Amino acid sequence: MNSKRKVVLVGAGFVGMSMAYSLLNQGGVEELVLIDVNKDKTIGEEMDLSDGLPYSPHKMSIKAGDYADCKDANIVVITAGLAQKPGQSRLELAVANAKIMKSITESVMESGFKGIFIIASNPVDLMSYVVAEVSGMPKSRVIGSGTVLDTARLRYLIAEYLEVSSKNVHAYILGEHGDSSLVPWEHCYVGCKKMIDIMKDNNHPMEDLKKIHDGVWQAAYKIIEKKKATYYGIGMALNRLVKAVLNDENAILTVSTYQNGEYGQEGMYIGVPAIINKNGVKEILELKLNEEDQAKFNHSCEIMKQNIENEIKPIIE
Ligand code: NAD
Repeated sequence: MNSKRKVVLVGAGFVGMSMAYSLLNQGGVEELVLIDVNKDKTIGEEMDLSDGLPYSPHKMSIKAGDYADCKDANIVVITAGLAQKPGQSRLELAVANAKIMKSITESVMESGFKGIFIIASNPVDLMSYVVAEVSGMPKSRVIGSGTVLDTARLRYLIAEYLEVSSKNVHAYILGEHGDSSLVPWEHCYVGCKKMIDIMKDNNHPMEDLKKIHDGVWQAAYKIIEKKKATYYGIGMALNRLVKAVLNDENAILTVSTYQNGEYGQEGMYIGVPAIINKNGVKEILELKLNEEDQAKFNHSCEIMKQNIENEIKPIIE
């Protein structure tokens, strides 16, 4: 693999370019290659981003490229495909985007790629499964952005509600990156105090927890209604994932990863907290869920399993 810190981005649309802009601003990547079916777009993006290099904290080579560039990349990030339209759920994109993921994955693997895949295209839990199956890579090397963005939204909303820094909020969204996600509130901490105890001690109504979660899962619908797409938040979240891999951080992030008996589930990708390092997913962090949360998690997994059987397998097998 490359001794340089090389990232290939497939899909130079809103989400992909938000990640690219975030990488340019924060530094830490030495080579960034842009691939898209719209080749002109990648050439324009290369020129536009490169104009910012004199004001970037680090040197970075940015170029429009092709799949041969994946050969020695550390990471291939896939953000290609159709995005949600107003009122549309992520699951409605499954069939069209699975076909796109299959063809992109085949092209990436033909290059001899041996790095880590990071997937953001929706529905991300299903698209990560497609990339893992088609590539034949160890499942730990295919990471979906999962609920990394949802978890950021949750931390932001809790921080606003309690007027504390979001950096001190340790709370996770589990399950589908979508409508069936859940918050295991018993495992949420602010600083080192349980969120539930903070609610009780300050006479905050417990119903507010549901309102906070509603705010998380409804966010994408509201943003898409107002501005047609969501991209800055996921751009930052993808940057965070790229850094966790490149810097071999062992960072705990709620990614979409393959379940192999963890949480009593197997055979699908779903969002759970996991330790991320240069080899991808090192380990899944298993929380002891109460009965209600386990039932919600199982429901989320069931939706994924049904979609894999009915929509995904006919495309990839
Ligand atoms: P976009 O339309 O702006 O960009 C998509 C890009 O993919 C386009 O440039 C298009 O030319 C390219 N593309 C399409 N087919 C391709 C192929 N076969 N090979 C290479 N490139 C191809 O859309 P966007 O807003 O950037 O969204 C991209 C994806 O990210 C969508 O699926 C969207 O739902 C998803 N998304 C995920 C999250 C998350 O949290 N995981 C958040 C927001 C959006």
